[in-house]
This record gives sequence, C-alpha cells and structure tokens, in this order.
Amino acid sequence: MDAQLLTLIDLQGFDTRLAALEAEAARLPKQIEAIHLALAEAKKIVDALKLKADTTRKDLRTKEKDLEVVTAKRAKAEGRLWEVKNNTEYSAVLSEIEAIKQEKAHGEEEILGLMELQERLTAEGREAESRLKAREEQARQDEAVVRKKLAAVEAELAGLRTDRQSRAQALPRPLLADYEKILKARSGVAVASVTASAVCSGCRVSIRPQAIQELKAAQAPMLCENCGRYLYWQEPA
Ligand SMILES: [Zn+2]
Repeated sequence: MDAQLLTLIDLQGFDTRLAALEAEAARLPKQIEAIHLALAEAKKIVDALKLKADTTRKDLRTKEKDLEVVTAKRAKAEGRLWEVKNNTEYSAVLSEIEAIKQEKAHGEEEILGLMELQERLTAEGREAESRLKAREEQARQDEAVVRKKLAAVEAELAGLRTDRQSRAQALPRPLLADYEKILKARSGVAVASVTASAVCSGCRVSIRPQAIQELKAAQAPMLCENCGRYLYWQEPA
C-alpha cells in the first residue's frame, strides 16, 4: 500500500482514539462535580434539620419562660384572694385565677408538644448525620476512583498526542492540512475503508467499479467522490 495512505490510516486511528479520550477527559470532571453536588444536597438536608431543632429549642425556652410568668401571675392572684373586700371582688379574682389556670394548661400543652418535636428532631438529626457521614465516605471513594481514571486518561492522551505528532511528520504539509480539514468537516472521520460491499464506510455511498480497481492498487490516496474522505481498500477478513 502507498506509504502516505498508510500514514493517513494510522493518523485516523490516532485521532479516533484521541477524540474518545478527549470526550472522556471532559466527562470525568463533570462526574466529580455531580458527586460534590449530591453531597452538598445531602448536607443541606442535615443543616435544615439542625436549624429546625435549634428553632424548636429556642421556642421551648421562650414557652418555659412564659410559663414561669404565668405561674408567678397565678401565685399573685391567689395572694389577692386574702385581700378582697367583698364577694364581688372575690369572684372577680376567682375568675381571673381560672383564666390564668387555663393559660397555664395551654402553655404546658405547648411545651409538651415542643419537647416531643425536639426529641423527634434530635433523633432525625442524628440519623441524617450518620447517613451523611456514610455518604461522604462513599463520595470520597468514588471521587478517588474518578480522579485516578482521569489521570490515566490524561496520561494516555499526552502519550498519544506525542505519537500522533511524530507520525504526522511523515506526511507532506499540504496533505496533512487536507486531512485535518476533512477530519474537522466530517465529524472526526477523514479516512474511510471500502470492503467487498463496495461502499464508502464514511458515507455509505457506492464506489464505482473503476475506482475500486484503483483502490485495490492503492498507488496514491484517493478521495470518496461523495463525501471527500480518503479511501482505502480493506481486504475481507
Ligand atoms: Zn464517502
């Protein structure tokens, strides 16, 4: 086979592999980003739970203080029972005490509810936290795997680029420039094979019998008349 055609076939091999690796090198950092994003979401849930527990704790303190005030109010009202001058005042203070009792009962109920809520939130928070810890550990491992893969891909890319560069030097500059132009215009495939089915593997259009004969002879690089890619004859396996 023509030496230039052989070089073109080699270059196509390099460029196909390079394109796949470059896609991989672009994809892997996104995978790391997704790992971080999922972890941040999980952390947000834990933080929200903590905030809710904090708010509940504060609410509880406030209600407890309110209850102290009500209790003091009740003691004061009860003391006044001994100071009243007549029945009217007496019943007035009694009904005041009754109202305070109800207020106190209501406050106690609220406190009980808040204590239950706090207990539940604390338990949920603990669970969420331990789930988060497990996720963080998993994320660390996952990220390490991806980073290792990325490093391997980048190392392979660097090696391949060097090899491709030196292989490309075998081609005259105009031919290399043509090849690269076709590569860009034809979605990364500039060199296409033709087999016994007599179609260009790049565009699937039939090749004239006359051209097939020339291809088989492979005296010089030939272009597909339809898609403009370089063609080469591939013997049936
Ligand atoms: Zn073609």
